[in-house]
Amino acid sequence: MSLESLRKDLSSSNTMALPCVAEQFFELSSEQAISDFFYAHPEDVLILGGGSNVVLPPVIQRPVVQVVNHTLECIARDLDHVVVKVGASVVWDELVAWAVENSYYGLENLSLIPGSVGAAPVQNIGAYGVELKDLLKSVRAFDRVQRVFVDLSNERCCFGYRDSIFKRECGRYVISEVVLRLARKAQFVLEYGELKTLSHEANLSLSKVRDTVIGVRSAKLPDPKVIPNTGSFFKNPVISRSTCEVLKQRFPSLVCYPAGEGSMKLAAGWLIENAGLKGYVQGNASVHDKQALVLTNQGGAQQQDIIRLASYVEDKIKDLYGIELEQEPILIRD
Ligand SMILES: Cc1cc2nc3c(=O)[nH]c(=O)nc-3n(C[C@H](O)[C@H](O)[C@H](O)COP(=O)(O)OP(=O)(O)OC[C@H]3O[C@@H](n4cnc5c(N)ncnc54)[C@H](O)[C@@H]3O)c2cc1C
Repeated sequence: MSLESLRKDLSSSNTMALPCVAEQFFELSSEQAISDFFYAHPEDVLILGGGSNVVLPPVIQRPVVQVVNHTLECIARDLDHVVVKVGASVVWDELVAWAVENSYYGLENLSLIPGSVGAAPVQNIGAYGVELKDLLKSVRAFDRVQRVFVDLSNERCCFGYRDSIFKRECGRYVISEVVLRLARKAQFVLEYGELKTLSHEANLSLSKVRDTVIGVRSAKLPDPKVIPNTGSFFKNPVISRSTCEVLKQRFPSLVCYPAGEGSMKLAAGWLIENAGLKGYVQGNASVHDKQALVLTNQGGAQQQDIIRLASYVEDKIKDLYGIELEQEPILIRD
């Protein structure tokens, strides 16, 4: 089976609005099409979802592939749970809205995260105390090494903070479906940030939680349609408790949280803001003036501008605190 490749302008298909042309672009809309394609293309290929966690170069010579699978169906249910199969190209927030409408609990804290369902396991998306791994049963993907479709259990996905096997073995798995297990009885996670205020509410509804998350996110994060960005640009660094104590003596207002035995997680946004970089502009790119964790395209920026600004921020943070920041979005090289 031969598939037609298209040259495609991806400038409006990435939330950082970076100019980018894919020299060969393919849409794969069945398992057969996926396996045929990867048999014919053993070379390096970029798999693209909604473009909200990538920093794209001006031209991509290698094939760029998008999986098209709009499946959304309940495949099992009992009194307490429902098991849902969702295709890779379903828009993540449309899935969350659907779950809320149908009174399925679990996804509401992950409202308004941009992107596709297929990319969600890649960095184990998370927000307000919930991560995808808490709800995911399995992932169906084409394994380019074994050249077969595999169903990876939650355990085999090796999830971590903004991490998974899909990120570590980048390019090996082409995700076509995700299977989630959602609750049918009310169970909310309200320990984080502004959601705490809801914990005393009687008869709290799913839609109230979703609306609150949407309200808080809209107030805090720039809308990529207005100010192009990829959300948090840096991961929150995890350091040892002893290093954290030393830092806390130097910077008493340091923002940090316990992160497992002997470890502390630092708020990268605080580190950047405290270094005086909030609102810092470098050419066409900037550190957002309301949320220092977000790098933005001010208009006309290219990949190189974002790389330069990110390295500048990383160097300043290293000099001031001795901490190495790790980038969250994936830098695509050609
Ligand atoms: C304003 C804003 C807010 C954000 N907030 C959050 C947040 O709160 N929490 C959070 O975790 N993230 C957040 N993000 C990051 C982003 O939304 C997520 O990482 C999202 O899952 C990316 O989805 P995407 O479809 O856009 O993926 P893309 O950016 O297209 O791709 C991301 C990675 O996944 C790979 N990939 C994509 N599809 C597939 C597939 N089918 N099979 C295999 N690999 C694939 C790509 O190759 C790439 O490596 C935010 C981003 C923005 C712009």
